[in-house]
Amino acid sequence: MPFCPKCRAEYIEGVEECPDCQVLLVDELPPKEETEYVEMVELEKVPDEVSGVMMKGILVNNGIDAVLKAAKIPWYDGIASTWSTYYWGVLLVPEDELERSRKILDEYLKSLENDENDDETKC
Ligand SMILES: [Zn+2]
Repeated sequence: MPFCPKCRAEYIEGVEECPDCQVLLVDELPPKEETEYVEMVELEKVPDEVSGVMMKGILVNNGIDAVLKAAKIPWYDGIASTWSTYYWGVLLVPEDELERSRKILDEYLKSLENDENDDETKC
């Protein structure tokens, strides 16, 4: 049976061209590409590498394939051109883990705040 290589429709014997795609039909379809590509989305901007590595570590510990990516910021004379939008990089997580990642990170950041409060009361 001839197939259209573009829309993968099957045609009866004798048809030579796909009327929809206007491409020549082939006898066999090429193997379907089923690479499990996961879209990575930005979870959080990180101010510096240390906190980025820390946040990534927490997510990885929770089974999330987080990726830390350094942002490319143009520097002029050693000073970032826009301090207001300055960040070291971004933390990327798979799109389907975004919600879970945010919860984990929120809880982590909250626990950090609590730790700081504890220190203050000790002093
Ligand atoms: Zn077609």
